[in-house]
Amino acid sequence: MTAVNVKLDGIGGVWSAACKDAVKDLNALFQRKGINVKLTLNGSGPTITIKTDPAIVGTAVHGKTRAEIDGRGRMLRAEVRLPVKLTINTPSGIRDAGAGMAEVVAAHEIVHALGHTPHTSLLMAQTMHKVMGNRPAGDKLKAGATTMPPLQLSDDTVKMLKEIWN
Ligand SMILES: [Zn+2]
Repeated sequence: MTAVNVKLDGIGGVWSAACKDAVKDLNALFQRKGINVKLTLNGSGPTITIKTDPAIVGTAVHGKTRAEIDGRGRMLRAEVRLPVKLTINTPSGIRDAGAGMAEVVAAHEIVHALGHTPHTSLLMAQTMHKVMGNRPAGDKLKAGATTMPPLQLSDDTVKMLKEIWN
């Protein structure tokens, strides 16, 4: 089992909550699917540093991830940059999106940081559509026919992560 540290670098309250949820829910999925990675917050080991970047527009539902990997494809260190905030269009105008939607964006970038480069399906889909909740907490992202949260990893993604980390 490899511990991978997730460091939250001065990101706001919504992103902090979303990243903590992403770490917890990804760990549960990794354990259930037999992927030998455990994410820790403020731990040790190879580190994914998460920060926000004003150059990434908040209407986007993705961030930017740069990872340095070793000869086996394992991440040595990575930097994830997220939009400062996520927004969603509603009938009464644009508002900030809730933590659930933010969790999906953060988890997607964390899985990229773990060496999953391509876009496939479910959490690692190329294209996701915003689905407005009755309240911000109910906002979700839709990949194909699947809305998240809860986070879902495709069999391809599980296979790819196992090839790297198991
Ligand atoms: Zn991506």
